[in-house]
Amino acid sequence: MAKRLNAIVIGGGAIGCGAAYYLAKQGCQVRVLEASRVGRACSHGNCGYICPSHALPLTAPGAVQRVVRAMFDKDSALYIKPRFDPALWLWLVRFALRCRRRNVRPVAVARQALLASSMQLYRQLLAEESLDVEWEDRGLLFVYKSPREFAAYQSTAESVRRDFGIEMIPYPGERLAELEPALRSDLGGGWHCPTDSHLRPDRLMAALVSVLRSQGVEIVEQAAVTAFDIGGGRARSIHTTRGSMTGDVFILAAGAESPVFAKQLDCRIPIQPGKGYSITLPRPERGPNIPMIFEESHVAATPWQSGLRIGSTMEFVGYDRSINRRRIELFMRAAAEHLAQPPGGPIQEEWYGWRPMTYDELPCVGPAPRASNVIVAAGHGMIGISTMTATGKLVSELALGIEPHLDPMPYSLNRFNYLQGGTRHWRKQAQVPVRTARD
Ligand SMILES: Cc1cc2nc3c(=O)[nH]c(=O)nc-3n(C[C@H](O)[C@H](O)[C@H](O)COP(=O)(O)OP(=O)(O)OC[C@H]3O[C@@H](n4cnc5c(N)ncnc54)[C@H](O)[C@@H]3O)c2cc1C
Repeated sequence: MAKRLNAIVIGGGAIGCGAAYYLAKQGCQVRVLEASRVGRACSHGNCGYICPSHALPLTAPGAVQRVVRAMFDKDSALYIKPRFDPALWLWLVRFALRCRRRNVRPVAVARQALLASSMQLYRQLLAEESLDVEWEDRGLLFVYKSPREFAAYQSTAESVRRDFGIEMIPYPGERLAELEPALRSDLGGGWHCPTDSHLRPDRLMAALVSVLRSQGVEIVEQAAVTAFDIGGGRARSIHTTRGSMTGDVFILAAGAESPVFAKQLDCRIPIQPGKGYSITLPRPERGPNIPMIFEESHVAATPWQSGLRIGSTMEFVGYDRSINRRRIELFMRAAAEHLAQPPGGPIQEEWYGWRPMTYDELPCVGPAPRASNVIVAAGHGMIGISTMTATGKLVSELALGIEPHLDPMPYSLNRFNYLQGGTRHWRKQAQVPVRTARD
């Protein structure tokens, strides 16, 4: 057992709670400070996929063209609000510069390391803590209306299988509805990744909170951190809306809001909020059993015993808190175009969340370069629920100085220090081109 550290976790989302869990398991005295309510931000209403199938990043050849097309399509899942926001435009330029073939493989390898380790750790967590989170091993279906688009996915499926051993099984045309009878029989086809799983994220967060409490973790809600007090290359204390606090180590897990502290920590945390929405409905009588993504409209549907969630969109509209009704209508339309029986019943919840998006599609997990006892754990984009466990474990290892269970280098904040070579040092290590359907 490592020495007993006093750890303060800033942010009570999946990443903060995951870090708190592994720190407490290592014997640390842990306090979670949450500005609002624990588990109510982006970790609440997401789609709950635990998806190693998502190893390939968005930053791939062809992505920029798709972004440009989307800007002229009012029904597109992607929306960038035209406005004066230099940080956003710089972020977008850097995203565009990453969309090269040679970048795909190293990023995918680093994403896969987190995803694969997380899957294993989730199974351990569920077994050890007897968590009831509606976990199911039904895989994930990538559904296409167009037979041509279905066929075009083949090269991506092959590359994912070849490079990461992830199985993707094709179900052309009517065979798709044989696998998932809730789907219409006139669709182009689908690819099934049988090794993905899913859970209900609000249940996950509630279950985690009770485990944390049983471990002795102190959870303080309505406690927003406002500033770090830095000196001698370390954070000495933090200021919060509930007074100042001291600790040995501070974990910055404030999701999309983490960049607020970049200036004080004297480092770059290039995260933009990628706003998504979801609606939750009662489980339909003839609803799907397998979670699925309607690929042409980028709308996802997740079935649980307790309901059905439909979610999507990636809006770059800043830290906007409104619900765009048009988006909700698009979800219902996409569901009606793919499901034999369109979902009905009262909408139980309408929700938005800010995905913490980095422009290189990798999270930031590592010490702040100029405050060695502040560990940043943010920027998990579209896979924060999927990578919660490995991130939490890695954070605890970095905090305690024990050998990390996976190479932390690709997630380090040093990659944004362009004067020191940025990502070049680790990117070279995994330089084998990967083919994708987008090439
Ligand atoms: C529509 C949608 C669908 C998604 N589907 C999936 C999916 O299927 N699978 C998957 O893996 N991921 C999915 N995601 C992404 C996933 O939800 C996020 O990656 C993840 O929730 C991020 O977790 P987090 O803990 O970093 O952030 P959050 O959950 O946002 O938590 C950050 C917390 O920090 C708090 N905070 C902020 N500032 C302060 C401060 N100053 N002081 C104290 N506290 C502060 C906030 O209040 C918040 O509670 C989806 C996202 C969306 C929007």
